[in-house]
Amino acid sequence: MKKHNLRDRALFYEKENGDKVRCTLCPRYCLISLGQKGFCKTRYNREGELVLLNRDRYCGLHYDPIEKKPLYHLSPKSKIFSIGSFGCNFTCDFCQNHQIVSNPEYSGTFTEDFILEKATSESSIGLAYTYNEPTVWYEGMYSLAVKLKKMDQRYKNVVVTNGYINEKPLVDLLPYVDGMNIDLKSIREDFYKKYCGGRLEPVLKTIALAAQKTHVEITTLLIEPLNTTPDEIQKIATTIAEIDDNIPLHLSRYFPTHRMQLSPTAINTIIQAKDIAKRYLKRVYIGNVPGLS
Ligand code: SF4
Ligand code: SF4
Repeated sequence: MKKHNLRDRALFYEKENGDKVRCTLCPRYCLISLGQKGFCKTRYNREGELVLLNRDRYCGLHYDPIEKKPLYHLSPKSKIFSIGSFGCNFTCDFCQNHQIVSNPEYSGTFTEDFILEKATSESSIGLAYTYNEPTVWYEGMYSLAVKLKKMDQRYKNVVVTNGYINEKPLVDLLPYVDGMNIDLKSIREDFYKKYCGGRLEPVLKTIALAAQKTHVEITTLLIEPLNTTPDEIQKIATTIAEIDDNIPLHLSRYFPTHRMQLSPTAINTIIQAKDIAKRYLKRVYIGNVPGLS
């Protein structure tokens, strides 16, 4: 029997029906046949085991202001070393990072020692897992997060995510996480289904769970007219407020990209949305509009 490197073994899966495997990392629960990949294209069935195609594969590698994540209430005015990889468990029509998401060759191979050295240099406060969806490179994120905290508890791990992750992997990761920005792309299941290829309900669960354990801020990309009605903004804000009305909400302006070619959202629409959200939440910000916040 061939020996394989356990380092590229996925952490969350179960064997099913002979040589098939069921990935249990995210709510898609992909059932993956021998030699096939899961929906996110980052893990595949090799000889009845689920293995990773993205271990140690990173892109972006950049020092960013923490406000760019966006996180406004975690170490303001500091910078953080930020990395991404390829793949995603959503298929958003408006994905701003679709090129790195869908092209594995945009990522290179980097050791964890190299990433950690960067994360702790140049006055960086730590490491941000961002750009594509870090859930689909969970094993790398988890390993780096644990090692960074072992180096010094004061270093920060920051996760920028769509929130589409199952409870067990999330709960395992949260003790090492200092802050999360979680997308709440809409408050409607039909929006998530049509424009993101996912579901809303698991995202709401992630927000509620994460907010109990770490600092959470939320981003909603406002795409007029798809998720900008006063009714929808009110529901977004009240849903967050039911969890905690201190959670900051970032209302970000959409511009045409990828498969979504609607006109940019009107600035007045964003201002009105902020006014509505402010009735329920203490901290609401406008993003992607120079001069407004
Ligand atoms: S992480 Fe990827 S392979 Fe696993 S269930 Fe989600 S989409 Fe499928
Ligand atoms: S969740 Fe983020 S990275 Fe994934 S497709 Fe949507 S916008 Fe792109």
